[in-house]
Amino acid sequence: MSTSTPDASAFDAVNVFGKGEPNTAYAQYFTGASFLKALVEDPACVIGVHNVTFEPGCRNNWHIHHATSGGGQVLLCTAGSGWYQEEGAPAVSLEPGTVVFARAGVKHWHGAKADSWFSHITLAVPGENASNEWLEPVDDEHYLAL
Ligand code: MN
Repeated sequence: MSTSTPDASAFDAVNVFGKGEPNTAYAQYFTGASFLKALVEDPACVIGVHNVTFEPGCRNNWHIHHATSGGGQVLLCTAGSGWYQEEGAPAVSLEPGTVVFARAGVKHWHGAKADSWFSHITLAVPGENASNEWLEPVDDEHYLAL
């Protein structure tokens, strides 16, 4: 079932973890506007937990979550409709309830569908020597053909 949600106020009503603030810190690694809300701000929590909201058409660049052991990123899809794609594989449709584990070292991107707002919670899985490598944008020719 598609949960495409093009209307911003209809989306806000189902984006139960909240939209947060414009994601200015990472804007250089996104095509389109995204929003970021930290869900656990207690520094005792060793896992980064954020709700990331993408406007229709917004997606992040190809990127890799590096770690020498452990690491990677869990995506818990919460509202709207989006895409996740690993290099060399078909794009996977994301709907509320979809769970994705991006393994450390795997090149991928994620974001909204062209006609829908989308949110997922990200869990940054702790790992040794963990870092993120941001690569090229997902170009329109590729994205709009999905
Ligand atoms: Mn990722």
